[in-house]
Amino acid sequence: MSNDRVLVGDVKVSPEHYINGQRVASASTFEDRSPLEWTTKLADVARGGSLEARAAVTAAVDAFASWAALSTTERQNYLHRLADLIDQHIEPIATVECLDMAMLLESLRLRVIGRGARNFRAYADLAVNYQPRRWDSNGTHNTVLRMPAGATVVITPWNAPFMLSTWKCAPALAAGNTVVLKPAEWSPLSCSLLMDLVDEADFPPGVFNMVQGLGEEVGAALVSDPRVRRISFTGSPETGRLIGVAAAKNLVPFTAELGGKGPFVVFADADLDLAAQKAALMYDDAGQVCLAGTRLLVQSSCRAAFLERLAAATNRHVLGDSRDPATTVSPLIHPDHLARVQGFVDRSKAQGDTLVFGGHRLQDDGLWFEPTLIEPKSNESEIVQHEVFGPVLTLQTFETEDEAVALANSTAYGLSAMVFTSDQSRADRIADGVRAGTIWVNCFLVRDLTAPFGGTGISGIGREGGDYALDFYSDVKTYQVKEDTTDG
Ligand code: NAD
Repeated sequence: MSNDRVLVGDVKVSPEHYINGQRVASASTFEDRSPLEWTTKLADVARGGSLEARAAVTAAVDAFASWAALSTTERQNYLHRLADLIDQHIEPIATVECLDMAMLLESLRLRVIGRGARNFRAYADLAVNYQPRRWDSNGTHNTVLRMPAGATVVITPWNAPFMLSTWKCAPALAAGNTVVLKPAEWSPLSCSLLMDLVDEADFPPGVFNMVQGLGEEVGAALVSDPRVRRISFTGSPETGRLIGVAAAKNLVPFTAELGGKGPFVVFADADLDLAAQKAALMYDDAGQVCLAGTRLLVQSSCRAAFLERLAAATNRHVLGDSRDPATTVSPLIHPDHLARVQGFVDRSKAQGDTLVFGGHRLQDDGLWFEPTLIEPKSNESEIVQHEVFGPVLTLQTFETEDEAVALANSTAYGLSAMVFTSDQSRADRIADGVRAGTIWVNCFLVRDLTAPFGGTGISGIGREGGDYALDFYSDVKTYQVKEDTTDG
């Protein structure tokens, strides 16, 4: 293994690819900077292209047959070993991801990185405990079997890169596939630490590879390689469309977990303190959370009471260095993203929407943006209809349940929805009417790894989570045996 490592905080990180069990450099590199201090360059990271994509897919294809031939229990041993190593390395991984992406250090330490370990354990165990469906019909015994699919490409976004990458790589590997992971170029380093642990866990070379680089270069080369048998993508709807086209050309199944514009519906009978406290959580991590409920839909009769509570809860936010435990709102990831968020807010004001609070970057030389609330003049306003992916919420009111459902369903997205009410039958009716992959009642971000996860509309195609993921990463086949062959 190459010793060409850079110091990120106090952690040594390889800026190179990991292909066929080896660190591999590229002729060119790209700069990776820290959102906490944009003048700080963290690393010159290997900038892969078609050469590296081809090498990584070749490694994954070559390693496939023997990995697929292992029993699920043998693969479980590898995945558990990796999970244990992640648990032992939470501190360095959290440190690097905090510097690289600016997610809050406390939450990385306490929740997010450990979830990576849980992903590997959960899918390894699910694969082992799988009970094939068996039934008899028309004189035959029928069984549904899963076959590993082949080399799998996983492409992930810059927010929560470690956790989101493990969420997809774990079921792919547990199902018997080999993997090429491409992390996002704005936060590439924590996944490099994952590859160190893959190496330490003694995975056979080629089973789990990673290439670094830009989406339109190495990413595009990976998804168009005809030897790839599954593509799993998380990112924006725009890129999702491009990847869908590449997958269609090779007739390769793909899943896409895309953007969101979740409705956050508050009825007058709700616990308004709870609802306001959860709504203010949407500003955490600078609102760079796909599942966030960014459209506050509030019953007219409780608008004033809810708004007062939301303003108070928002005032308790502390914008600051993500390493400081007192900080609750981190900076945005990149100056280009800051400009994008500011652009949304400026256009919204120019088009006649009302700025209730926030609306500005915090200081000239940092990437912090104030928690912002906008009352749009119409449901057609750009700020209501498009994902901002920053600390920007909109507030609209409704009178009836039907109106709430109609507003909730009035964008092209359908990833998540939140409903706050003390009336369970009302919650059931709303959940029935709202188009979204996940609906939370009186809560937010509660996850069960065996539950399906994904979006409708432009929020995604396909479902991952539990057996849904293992089915996606397998070729499912039907096996039929005639009970009695005497009658032909
Ligand atoms: P993005 O679409 O710009 O990039 C995502 C990944 O795709 C990156 O690794 C990028 O390098 C790669 N990529 C870009 N062009 C490519 C191409 N032509 N071919 C192959 N790969 C290419 O998204 P982003 O800005 O990194 O992430 C933010 C978006 O991700 C938001 O829309 C957010 O809502 C969404 N997201 C969704 C979920 C979910 O689970 N639904 C989770 C997190 C983020």
